[in-house]
Amino acid sequence: MNIKRIFNNLLNLIFKNMEQESHPLRFNSPLPFNSFKQILSNLLKFVFPKRCIICDTILPFGKGINYEYLCKKCIKSIHFITEPYCKKCGAKINDIDSAYCDRCKSQYSKTKSNYSFGFGLCRYTNNIKNSLHKIKYDGRYEYLEFYGKLIANIYYKKIKKLNIDAFIPVPIHRERLLSRNYNQAEVLAMHICNHLKNYNIDIEVDNEYIIRTKSTKKLNKLSNTERKNELTNAFTIKKHPQYKNVCIVDDIYTTGSTIENLSGLIKKDNVSNIYFLVIAVVDNI
Ligand SMILES: [Zn+2]
Ligand SMILES: [Zn+2]
Repeated sequence: MNIKRIFNNLLNLIFKNMEQESHPLRFNSPLPFNSFKQILSNLLKFVFPKRCIICDTILPFGKGINYEYLCKKCIKSIHFITEPYCKKCGAKINDIDSAYCDRCKSQYSKTKSNYSFGFGLCRYTNNIKNSLHKIKYDGRYEYLEFYGKLIANIYYKKIKKLNIDAFIPVPIHRERLLSRNYNQAEVLAMHICNHLKNYNIDIEVDNEYIIRTKSTKKLNKLSNTERKNELTNAFTIKKHPQYKNVCIVDDIYTTGSTIENLSGLIKKDNVSNIYFLVIAVVDNI
């Protein structure tokens, strides 16, 4: 992956210099610059082919924008979350008259939530599960560009209204960072942030605000009490930037316990509103 990055940077450098050279009055090449750029770009795709973010097959190139991230077969396989959805966790619900999913109804009937609300791009189907697995365990962090771009394109108006000071990626433990080389939540947040710039929205990604001080087990198989114990002292605030509104970013919302725990810590740091944004929300229907 690093070789790919170095190669990309090299190409960018060449293109930059060529763009300066390619002024119509100064440069009159028999091979137009755009064709040359296209050849190099195709060469890059040949050496490092793009893969479908769902099924991981190599994508054909030069056949239109649809082939940039998804193969023909998977193009309709993403179930985007549309109305009706839970106004608290963003999960898809069936009942048009209900504001919340059953999970949120039972979870927040006795205890108050630390975050305001959150929203996700799509439902956690098997396809998305495979895609997220590839991102986390097979080094396919480049898939996050697709998700970040879509989140920005779909939710930019909503994000703008919330006046978010910073995106806070859910931190991963140092040991996991050393073995994975990246935090998928942070890479996702960077892509969202980059694509939001197209809508004149400038929100920073703060990955130094909170660190994970405890390497936690997988939470989805644990009971409520076990999850609570596992997350006790899992995160620590490292600085006090005095944010008013923040948005936690993660790849998936399952039980909500990580987001809830993190929000509790942020709330104690006098942040007024906490939201979250994820790629996928596990169904509660
Ligand atoms: Zn596919
Ligand atoms: Zn809910």
